[in-house]
Amino acid sequence: MSLFSKFKRSASAESAADPNAIFQSTRGDFKATAAQAVLLGLAPDGGLFVDPTIASRPFDVQGCLKLEPLGMAEKILSHMLPGFPDMGGLVHRGYEGKFSSPELTPLVPVGDEYILELFHGPTAAFKDVALSMLPQLITAAREAEHVREKTVILTATSGDTGKAALEGFHDVPGTGIIVFFPHNGVSAVQQAQMLTQVGSNVAVCAVRGNFDDCQSGVKAVFSTLNEPGRLDGTGVKLSSANSINIGRLAPQVVYYFLAYASLLRRNRIAFGDNVDFVVPTGNFGDILAGYYAKLMGLPVGKLVCASNANRVLTDFFADGSYDRRRQFYKTVSPSMDILVSSNLERLLFLASGGDAAQVKADMLRLQNSGYYKLSASTMNRIREDFSGYCCDEEGTSEAIRTCFRETGYLCDTHTAVALHAAKEYRQKESGGAPLVVLSTASPFKFPAAVLSALGEEPAGDAFAQMDQLAVFTGKEIPASLSGLQGREVLHNDVIDKADILRYVEDKLPLL
Ligand SMILES: *Cc1c(COP(=O)(O)O)cnc(C)c1O
Repeated sequence: MSLFSKFKRSASAESAADPNAIFQSTRGDFKATAAQAVLLGLAPDGGLFVDPTIASRPFDVQGCLKLEPLGMAEKILSHMLPGFPDMGGLVHRGYEGKFSSPELTPLVPVGDEYILELFHGPTAAFKDVALSMLPQLITAAREAEHVREKTVILTATSGDTGKAALEGFHDVPGTGIIVFFPHNGVSAVQQAQMLTQVGSNVAVCAVRGNFDDCQSGVKAVFSTLNEPGRLDGTGVKLSSANSINIGRLAPQVVYYFLAYASLLRRNRIAFGDNVDFVVPTGNFGDILAGYYAKLMGLPVGKLVCASNANRVLTDFFADGSYDRRRQFYKTVSPSMDILVSSNLERLLFLASGGDAAQVKADMLRLQNSGYYKLSASTMNRIREDFSGYCCDEEGTSEAIRTCFRETGYLCDTHTAVALHAAKEYRQKESGGAPLVVLSTASPFKFPAAVLSALGEEPAGDAFAQMDQLAVFTGKEIPASLSGLQGREVLHNDVIDKADILRYVEDKLPLL
């Protein structure tokens, strides 16, 4: 029996009686266990899985903060995704030997702020933190749910998720992966990372369109192919490696705790003191993980949402209306070039006290009319925890240049957007709490833009530019990036956005 048809029957009966079925759809009363939610990715009604009890279930924050990184990850993931057997083993297999720093995500003081470096994993972007874990979670969930079909991961990427997911899932037994990225919409290094990916179960495809086209195309494939009967006999089930999957989000909560523990160890704070976090944001997954940390009891003050020129979230936090009817800008921080931030849906659900009917109405309105507006009461609640700032292209360059000149610290274009926001937040709002800026990628993933920001003319191809940046700044190129040079390009597919479904159907039997 397929997982989906089992759910259909049991949504209200069996699953509701299962004490572990703590997840529900943001758009209705569909229930699932953690393992089921991780396998499904998206709820069948198009909503995202949330645990409405996350803030009320007791969690030993202080005990958790005393643990070493992998112990902390085990504790947090067991709490957020209950029911997985041997989470400790999964965490060790997920992370051991993959990150170049024993702290996983080191906290580095830079000027008045702290930078949380999330890019020491295999693909030099923060997506590695979650995507090192997700294959472990999916493999364990497949066992727990006795899934015999192949689990095929469909992924839309703005540049970094794709490579991190390919790295995590290639040649993992029982899985296949298809990645869609915007044609000419990612950096040369990001593209080289994806197009040279080896593995017998992988497909990589450029789409003529932007990230939103890739994401909505993938979501449409989910809803079409998950219709009852549609995949019967194919031996395939679909899942997602995007942050719409709760298994992507949960591992990201860990580094908020790691940062807090690091500030405690430095005696910069005492337990209970608030810490503010500035997060360079696209799909709203990374920053939402900070909100989860806060709901679980970590003393988080403000979560500052930093956007690039695609400032749809900045406007949302300012006036409570989310409006994607605007120009889409291609920027030097391409992983944040997004107008429809999927994970905001989880915030709307949690901040409205679980009003699934309202969330569903707003999401339909966004899909059909391009905008929605929240009630003043929900918006006021959201503003207690969040504020939004944005930064244009010149501001991004200026932040890279100033940071390097004043502190010697070299940051990437996405982190620069956050640094700019941090500065503005300090001037306008901050109550003086320590400020942690999340750094989401290595500057060597975006060498042309970083060189230009530093006043250097980038020369040659992406690899020459990496060398140029290393020489100019005296910083080291991550081995995973320099090792790309000379690798064979294995993927050449380019399609129109209308052909995403057909592409998936053609590829499924081949993975
Ligand atoms: C994905 C990404 C972001 C945005 O993170 P979201 O979870 O989508 O908000 C920011 N910076 C980099 C480098 C990324 O890869």
